[in-house]
Parts: sequence; C-alpha cells; structure tokens
Amino acid sequence: MVYQLRPYQKDAVKSVIRHFRSSDDPALIVLPTGAGKSLVISELGRIARGRVLVLAHVKELVEQNHAKYESYDLKASIFSAGLGRKDADEQVVFGSVQSVVRNLEQFNDNGFTLLVIDECHRVSLEKNSSYHKVIDHLRSLNPKLKILGLTATPYRLGIGWLYQYQHSQNKDKKGTIRTTDKRFFKDCIFELPLSYMIKNQFLTPATMIDAPVVFYDFSQLSRDPFGRYSEQELNSLLQGKGRATQQIIRQVIKEATDRKGAMIFASTVDHAREIQGYLPEGQAALVIGNTPGKERDAIIHAFKEQKLKYLVNVSVLTTGFDAPHVDLIAILRPTESVSLYQQIVGRGLRLAPNKQDCLVIDFAGNRYNLFSPEIGSPKPDSKSVPVTVPCPACGHENSFWGVVDNDGDLVEHYGRRCQGYLEQEGEKEQCDFRYRFKECDQCGAENDIAARKCHECQKPMVDPDQKLKEALNLKNCMVIRCSGMTIEADENRQGKARIKVTYFDEDGADVKEYFQLETPAQQGAFYHNFGKHALINRAEPFRADSISKIINNHKKFRKPDFVIAQKEKHYWRILEKLFDYQGAYRKADSAE
Ligand SMILES: [Zn+2]
Ligand SMILES: [Zn+2]
Repeated sequence: MVYQLRPYQKDAVKSVIRHFRSSDDPALIVLPTGAGKSLVISELGRIARGRVLVLAHVKELVEQNHAKYESYDLKASIFSAGLGRKDADEQVVFGSVQSVVRNLEQFNDNGFTLLVIDECHRVSLEKNSSYHKVIDHLRSLNPKLKILGLTATPYRLGIGWLYQYQHSQNKDKKGTIRTTDKRFFKDCIFELPLSYMIKNQFLTPATMIDAPVVFYDFSQLSRDPFGRYSEQELNSLLQGKGRATQQIIRQVIKEATDRKGAMIFASTVDHAREIQGYLPEGQAALVIGNTPGKERDAIIHAFKEQKLKYLVNVSVLTTGFDAPHVDLIAILRPTESVSLYQQIVGRGLRLAPNKQDCLVIDFAGNRYNLFSPEIGSPKPDSKSVPVTVPCPACGHENSFWGVVDNDGDLVEHYGRRCQGYLEQEGEKEQCDFRYRFKECDQCGAENDIAARKCHECQKPMVDPDQKLKEALNLKNCMVIRCSGMTIEADENRQGKARIKVTYFDEDGADVKEYFQLETPAQQGAFYHNFGKHALINRAEPFRADSISKIINNHKKFRKPDFVIAQKEKHYWRILEKLFDYQGAYRKADSAE
C-alpha cells in the first residue's frame, strides 16, 4: 500500500526536519490520538539517511507501530523479548525500551542518527532510567544523535509541561515559554489541536450534556499544590451520595440505550465499585490500578468486542487506551486540568463505522470547554475561564485564567508575566513584561510577586509578612486590611482639582491619598504610586491625564490587599500598598 500523508502530517515531518537541521536538542511533537502518528514515524524512517530506532514502553505499541510501518511496503526489524524477536538488522528498528537496554551490545553501531520515542511523556530527567541508558549509549557512538518524542499529552498533573518552549507554527506569532525548569525535551516543534481533528472529520464530534439532572459538587474540596484532590476527601464526600450516584447511573443507562459502548470515569476505587453495582449485571466491568494484567486484558478485549457495554475505571484508561466504538463518556470525577478533561473525552472521539458522535455527560460540574487551551496551572476558582491577554511589549497572545463580565470584558486575570519568548542567535529569552510584580526597593526593577531576591540587583526582597509584622508592632503605624476602595473627585484647600482614593478596612476605618494630574510629573507620580500596581489590565495602554478620565474608568483599577500608613502630625501618610499578597495574614473578604 502506498501511503499518502495528510497535510498536517506533512507539516509535522517538515517541522522535524527543520528543527534537526539547526539543532541537536531533543524535541517533541504533539499529536492527539487518532492523528496517525505511525504515518509520521514511517515517513521519517523512509527519508532518514541514517538508521532509526523507534522505542516504546510496551510490546503492544512496538507491534502496532511496526505493523503499520510494514503495511506501507517498508521493512523494519523488531527488537522486543515480549514479542519473541530480537532483530536489529534493518535500517529502521522498532524496539521496546526494556529489551533494548538489556542488550545494548547489539546496538554498537554509530549509524543510528534518529531516536524516536513514542509516548514520550514517560521519559524523565532521571539519569538511571532505561530511556537514559539507551540515549547515553547511542549518544556515545554518535554525539549528534537526534531525539524526537511523540505524545498526545504534553501536560501532566504533578509534573506540568513536558517541554520548555512551544514553537509557534505561525511565522508571525511568537512562541510560548512553558517553564523555566529543565526538561529533557526542550522544544515542542509541532502541535495539532483537537479542534482541527474534529473540524476536519478525523475525529467524531462530541455532544455535551453539561447540566445533567443530578450532579456532584466537588467545589469545596481542597487540593494539593498540583491541583490534585485527595482520595480520602473524595471518598468521604461521596459516601453520603449513594442516592445521587444511583440516579446518575440511571441516567447513564437511559442515555446509553442507543449507544454501543460507554466508559464511566469514577472518582475513587470505592466509588467505581459502587457504580458497577448499579449497572446491569453481565454488561459492565471494572478496571482499576491493581487489576491483574491478564484479567485487565480480558476485560478490555470483551469491551472492544462489544460483549460488555459499560467499562468503569479510575483514571487508568485516560491515555493509550483505544476502543473506537466508544460513543458515550460519563464523567463522575473532578477533573483537575483541561488536558485531563480532553484526554478523557478523547477516548470517545475515534472514528468508527456508523458512529455519528460521542455523547459526553459531565456529572462533576467540571465545565471545561473541550477546545480550551491548557493554561498550565490549576483553575483558581469556578468563575475562571481561559482568556487571551496580548502583551504590550512583544505582542505575544498569552493564555491565562481570568474572569470576564456578562459583556465578555475582562474583569481580572491571573497572569503574572508574559509567556512569549524572543530568539536571538539561537538563544531563547523570555519577554520580561510583567502583569503583576513587586518592585525592588533599591533599584526599582520589577520582580515576580513570589521573588525572594531582586533579579536585577540581587538585593533580598523584603517579605511582605515582615513589613506587616513590623507595621503592626509600631505604635504610630496602621495597617488597613483593605476590603474596599473608592476613587472620587476632590479639591484641595487652594481649590485645585485632585483625585481622592480612600482605602477601607473591614471595620470602616480608612486612609486616603490624593493625586493631582495637571502636569506630566503629577501624572507620572500617579502612575508610579498607584496606576502601575492597581490597573487590572496593564497590557491595555491607559494614560491618566485627567481627573474625569480616572473617575469614568474607576473600574479599571483594583484595590490593594493591605495598606500600611504612618501617623504624621495631622494625617496618616501611606507608606506602602501591598497588591497580590501571598502570605500568612488573612486578607479581607472581598466587599464586591
Ligand atoms: Zn511579551
Ligand atoms: Zn533591585
């Protein structure tokens, strides 16, 4: 069979060639399930001048990739003990990482120029892992070895992004920096979004039911710093919800009447067992983390053969599981990231004969949009949605969590720093525009709100808790735990117009500050002492050149969390306003 690459597959191959022509840095490409990554592998194998090793972590994947490759009338070796073949003679070799690492002497060939790692989210920075042993070995024979990773899930809870730099596929747009932490794969050179796949009918559309009759409310549960829930808390919340669970499963069964295969994602193992008990006997099975391999294979086989209609699982089947006939996904668990949500829904989007769509019912109030970008941090609250915030310095279009009003106007966003990067002479540098920042007392440089030390002059940043503690201990100091702020027009004793800003604490105490705006110097002082920190959207140019303009735009400003003032002879002088406070003291409950 002669194969024909789809347009995006051609683009993926081109981006790989382009990248490795100028760099030996390991790179990855992101293709959703169903995008036909084996065709991309085949094309790379076909055009490679040197030898190619394609690694996967399980024999099934080795076998599957190899079979696809040979179906295109190409020849390749298989090196996998599990498959009973240890052959590395052909130009292209498909191997399982465990078998290859145990037989490195059979790979003493400096001809390997390309190493492809399938499901590369399994590669860590861990130096002693099997993957690294293979990589070190091949690199010792060929220091210019190119390493390409393939994955459908470049963002994982608890790990974060698998790579540092996301290249833009649009020449006119900037790339995005995902993390400054070291990653084995430095660059993501190609990513195909799920929306493209559905729009172009490479995947089936999803039909969503967001507000089912009964649903769980997980919003009060606490989460760890990675945004994950604890199994214990989930169990205790679900224990009293037997009735709801029963009703939910009744709805699932009803909706499944004309459906072929339903996957149910439960919150915990106990929850999954309970759910299974409510499903029709003989038609449902359960797969959990410790289901023995053989039993698991048998269950999955029966499900794929459609001898079972319902498959209940707890997060073990979110990736790498493929049953194209699945046309109902029921989500009964809180889903901590957009990526995870997309992975879950993605289980039901494969094309299959006579399949029109996949019904997705979210019983957990996750309310994610299937096509949302991954923001890379936990959703701060239920009101937050992904917003696009352009950078005034470099033009990069940032995706942050934010809050919009009914007109769709931005009320607040949680971005701290522009995520665009600039590339000069092969060096990538993050744009230094900050939406939220702490100013260095010594040099005035803008620092991240969590910075310990100024990035310009290295002076330790004074901890806001320290400032509050000192102020609270001083007799002539006052701390306003700011619960509200007003901005009004006012006049001084000479009758000159000015702005009066009043900060209130919860008990009604207040401090005020005043700004005149007649001269450029006064306007500058307003910006430095107030606007720079209080403007909600610093990215939007705002010239504070008249009092009426400030009054009419008072909604563009936000209140600080704390105001520290010192008693002068006749008035309280504001020493400091703390915005974006993160620390031990309680903030005021918002009055708004
Ligand atoms: Zn920027
Ligand atoms: Zn400094």
